[in-house]
This record gives sequence, structure tokens and C-alpha cells, in this order.
Amino acid sequence: MARTADDTWGVGESVGATAVGAAEWRARENVRPDRLFADPYAQVFLDAVAARKIPNSQFTEELMARLQETDPHIVRGVRAQQDFVAARTKWFDDFFTAATASGIRQAVILAAGLDARAWRLQWRPDAVVYEIDQPKVLEFKDETLRIYGVEPAVRRVSIPIDLRTDWPKALREAGFDPTLSTAWSVEGLLAYLPASAQELLLDRLHALSAPGSRIAVDALDAAFFLPENLTRLGSFFVEIRAVMIRNGGDLPDTPNLFFDEERTELADWLRQHGWQADELEVHDVMARYRRRASEEDDAGVPHCVMVEGRLPL
Ligand code: SAM
Repeated sequence: MARTADDTWGVGESVGATAVGAAEWRARENVRPDRLFADPYAQVFLDAVAARKIPNSQFTEELMARLQETDPHIVRGVRAQQDFVAARTKWFDDFFTAATASGIRQAVILAAGLDARAWRLQWRPDAVVYEIDQPKVLEFKDETLRIYGVEPAVRRVSIPIDLRTDWPKALREAGFDPTLSTAWSVEGLLAYLPASAQELLLDRLHALSAPGSRIAVDALDAAFFLPENLTRLGSFFVEIRAVMIRNGGDLPDTPNLFFDEERTELADWLRQHGWQADELEVHDVMARYRRRASEEDDAGVPHCVMVEGRLPL
């Protein structure tokens, strides 16, 4: 279904299905002997999704072994996508760990989805983590972990709101302190926002950022929206979706959920607004964590750069 300016969703629907997809790749990572991080909650979310009969992808090791016989290129593409999400998760984990070590005690996770950092990372005892996402996504997350009986490792505040609306007001009303330096994360979000909403989100985030604030973003580079890249990504998704449906699961129609619009380069935007910004190309991030995908297998790896910004004190 086409996106609209005020569309909304729960997990398993529209953009909400991508939150489940990310959790699935983290659940697979969690059981690898060489895992980059531990996230036992990802499987808890997948179990809750299955219990509610929400369609999701089932790239189990058993299916991958079968596909290896018939469609080895699919297996390599899916593995590259898993590795991308694992390396991205680890990069954002490292960002929060460094921000915490520097003394920052206020964090905001924009488009938190089923990310369990508030449960699984080590935070300062006086820290607070605000999580923003669509109401039905956070409702599912909160309820699932409440039933599972696990408490966050930090004071966590759930802010159920659409990021195209006045989320700063909701954030302030929930106790956010704009005089404190903040660690912001924007992970897996920007392609799902119209370019104008991305611009507004950045303006608002900047206005709330005290000196010393930091930001981490996986930003789409200009190559992402080139027609040949979108076609390549689209064909890969069509192919893996067809395989998944044949095998009794489902996958989000991810490329059709994007707002295919030209955007400001994120690092440039930050620098123009007084932030110091470093960027790392996605393949370099994957290589840093020993997960580089070879060129012919990287259909599932989106063209993006990991950008880290810091506002001087
Ligand atoms: N950051 C999480 C992670 O890496 O697991 C989730 C990433 S998932 C690919 C995209 C998330 O963005 C979903 O949870 C979705 O609900 C959220 N999202 C996208 N557009 C949004 C909007 N306009 N308002 C609130 N949340 C949004």
C-alpha cells in the first residue's frame, strides 16, 4: 500500500514490519558463536509476533541450508543483510557506550522499534533513555517485555508518537531536559520519512541539543536513491520475498515503504549547524566488525554512511 503523510502502523504492518525484520536479524546474531553483541530480547519479540500470528520472515538456519542447494545467491544476499544489521547494531551500541563513558546521562532513541538497548546496555545509574516510535509499535514492545517479566537496565520512558508530528513537545512533557547534553540515535529511520520531515526532524533535534550532545545516524547517501540502486534493491527484495512466501513466511515490501526523495547530506547538514561530524561508509563499518560483504553478495546492504556528530562543549 502506498505511503501517505499521516499513515500509521503496528508491528507487522507497513513500516512496523521492518522493526520485526531488524529484530529477526538480531535474534540470529544472538545465537552465533562469534556474535557481535548479546540480544536475548530479539527472540522474545519474535516469539510474541509468532504467537499473535503476525506474518514475519523465517530465514531459519534450516531454510538457509535448503536454499543453499537451490538458490545460493539468495543465501549470500540474506547473510549480507544480517551482517549489515548486526554491524549497524554494534556500531550504535558502541556509540551509546562511549557517550555514557563521557558522562552523558540523557539518551533519545528515535524510531526505537524493537531495539532493546535500554535493557541490554550498561547505563549510568542516573541515566534516562527516551524511546520514540509509533504508538502501536511501542505498545507491543512494552507489553511483550512486561509479560516476559524483564525490567530495563535504566530509567526508560516510552514516547508513543509519530515522528512527523510535534514529538519535541511530547518529549519535554515526558521530562526531557534540553539543558543537558543528549546522546541521540537515528537508526533505520530516514528512508521512511519524507525529505521535508527529515529536515524538520533534524531542525527540532538540533534545537533540543545542549552543548556536548552527540548524535549517531545511519544516513542514506546520494547513491541510495539513484534509480539503478533502487532497482537493484527492489529486485533483491522481490526475490527474497517470493522465496519467503513460498516457504510459509512473509517479508515487508521495504523499498515500497521508502520516500524516494532527494535529501540533504547528513554530515554536511550537521557541520553547517555547528556540529563536528565524522562519517564511515557502510562497508567500512562492516569490515570494522569483521562482516564485510563481497561486492557481488551485497544486494541486501543499503548504500549508507554511519555519521557521528558532536556539538562542542
Ligand atoms: N531502530 C530500530 C532498529 O534498528 O531495530 C527500528 C528500525 S525499523 C527499520 C524502522 C522503525 O522506524 C520502525 O520501528 C518504525 O515504526 C519507525 N518509524 C518509521 N517512521 C516513523 C514515524 N513517522 N514515526 C515514528 N516511528 C517511525
